[in-house]
Amino acid sequence: MKLIDGKEIANQVKEEIKKEVSQIIDNDEKAPHLAAVLVGEDPASQTYVKNKEKACKRVGMISSVYNMSAETSQKELLETVDFLNNDPEIDGFIVQLPLPDHIDEDTIIQSIKPGKDVDGFHPVNLGKMMLGQPAFLSATPNGIMELLERSNIDTEGKHCVVLGRSNIVGRPISVLMSQKEKPGNATVTVCHSRTHNLEEYIKQADILIAAIGKQEFVTADMVKDNVVVIDVGIHRVTDDTKEKGYRLVGDVDFEGVKKKASAITPVPGGVGPMTIATLLKNTLKAAKKEV
Ligand code: NAP
Repeated sequence: MKLIDGKEIANQVKEEIKKEVSQIIDNDEKAPHLAAVLVGEDPASQTYVKNKEKACKRVGMISSVYNMSAETSQKELLETVDFLNNDPEIDGFIVQLPLPDHIDEDTIIQSIKPGKDVDGFHPVNLGKMMLGQPAFLSATPNGIMELLERSNIDTEGKHCVVLGRSNIVGRPISVLMSQKEKPGNATVTVCHSRTHNLEEYIKQADILIAAIGKQEFVTADMVKDNVVVIDVGIHRVTDDTKEKGYRLVGDVDFEGVKKKASAITPVPGGVGPMTIATLLKNTLKAAKKEV
């Protein structure tokens, strides 16, 4: 069984980005600049934005954070987005989600200039992805494709079963896995809460991508031998033996399934670490005007 080490692969990606950024700087050009807008004081969002700042520093990019109070109106946020859209110093930016209830996330996402939408949530980027055109791909599906490619997982002609059809994971990864490219060229089945006989589909998977948000849902008896498993789920389980009082598990029972899998991502340390690496990759693309 091969462990698909997301931490290691994310580090490789960051090192490659760092090299490119230092070449840009050596050529007397401006370092790529990623901005983040943070509305309110959600602790998870604060941590995430802090990690992005740290990652930018590590690869030599400029980062800036626009902290706005939880009472910020939608109009004020739209004005900030407009400012960032038009600031030539900023190559790409993200508006950290979730937003407070009085702000409509779709309106905000659609107000971001697609060429600066490094989160890849704008409908133009999603549409381009559908058409196989250069686009900013969102972090999780992009990270999964990177993991498959760098782990030399052969996807061509394989039956890929995706559990989940969310707009941020299941749906985009199903499109990417079926794209006429490498990695891709898989035959894809998308399963969701209305799927009948779910286990029959899981059993057929050569590649299983689990993103259903159900703790350790996929067990060893459900999968076939030599399956490749990408576990997207993240769940906190109380564990008094850990310093933090909890441990993280995925949508897959890792200990059981790893005995049958030919390759598998752990949780933590699989898909998760790829998120920031792919955001940096998108920022570099934005700076190079590749999208
Ligand atoms: P989501 O929006 O809750 O979507 C879950 C999907 O699973 C839905 O399509 C749902 O079907 C389907 N589903 C739920 N229960 C099911 C069941 N019993 N049988 C079959 N299908 C079922 O979740 P998400 O945002 O895609 O995230 C999925 C998981 O990945 C979560 O644990 C989340 O925390 C994690 N996540 C991790 C990362 C990372 O960086 N590692 C990033 C994003 C998300 P319906 O559409 O019919 O409701």
